[in-house]
Amino acid sequence: MEPLSIVVVDDDPDAAEALCRLLGSLGSSCRVAHGGEEAVALLSRAQFDLVISDSRMPGVDGLSLCRAIRTRDDPYVYFILVTADDDRAHLLEAMRSGADDYLTKPIDPETLCARLLCAERVIRLHRTLRARNRQLRHDSERNFQVARVDALTGARNRRALAEDVQAKRAGVIRYGSPCAVAMCDLDHFKEYNDALGHLAGDEALKRVVRVTQAQLRAGDALYRFGGEEFVVLLQHQNLLSARAAMERVRRAVAHSAPSDAEKITISVGLAELRADDADDEVALGRADSALYRAKLGGRNRIET
Ligand code: GH3
Ligand code: MG
Ligand code: MG
Repeated sequence: MEPLSIVVVDDDPDAAEALCRLLGSLGSSCRVAHGGEEAVALLSRAQFDLVISDSRMPGVDGLSLCRAIRTRDDPYVYFILVTADDDRAHLLEAMRSGADDYLTKPIDPETLCARLLCAERVIRLHRTLRARNRQLRHDSERNFQVARVDALTGARNRRALAEDVQAKRAGVIRYGSPCAVAMCDLDHFKEYNDALGHLAGDEALKRVVRVTQAQLRAGDALYRFGGEEFVVLLQHQNLLSARAAMERVRRAVAHSAPSDAEKITISVGLAELRADDADDEVALGRADSALYRAKLGGRNRIET
């Protein structure tokens, strides 16, 4: 564990120097601030674990310094107020304002050592909590991503689709900017699996996702809807421009196979998200109906 970083605050240079020497004899090093203003400036530039501040100082006194520190967010700064023995009322107010502990002048080495042990325990606890919180935040962000990705293909999944369709339709309703939805289905994929095996089928699904993603623009997104069905959301695109984009995808997929035996084609049904739809799912239903027409029309084609 790193040593504690300490700031000693005192407008009296001799008193600050004496306390620094005492801390040094106990194995701790410190920085000195000659008053509250200097301490505030120092703390805004660098991170410290512990502040040991004199109470009575001109300008920003110990109490005001403590309050200023407590108005900041993380990371926690442990605060020890140094008071004269006859300053009890001031001391209580400081503890209520967020001071963690106090020392009375003249500072006795054993008492200082005892207070430092206590401070160190609390500071290390804060450090551990901070590290754990960071890890939890990181894990939770990762879990959020993982929960929205299809494990086989790396495309976004149904959960992500439901959220994104809702967000995109909200954009359609609020700003009137169009958004198209394409429902894609691999043609005769059962035969492909039967002929080449399910592992080869899995590879074909991954290839279709790779090829499709390479054709899409930055704002567009690809989702695995079900087994061999995919959805593309085409942001800011009406049926005409979406058809051109999906035509590029259809052609790229049809030409992506490394051999004739592995040739895959897709059929696509297109629809627009509409503000007057009863809910977010309606457009998906329209795209699905269009997909059936593409299948009936001979496959490897796009219908609206
Ligand atoms: P159509 O052109 O009418 O869509 O015919 P199809 O054979 O593609 O449609 P069907 O619904 O009869 O078959 C879908 C096939 O997709 C069957 C299923 O085994 C396969 N499939 C679904 N998910 C996966 C997967 O994750 N991996 C593999 N390898 N195959 C899958
Ligand atoms: Mg199919
Ligand atoms: Mg299907």
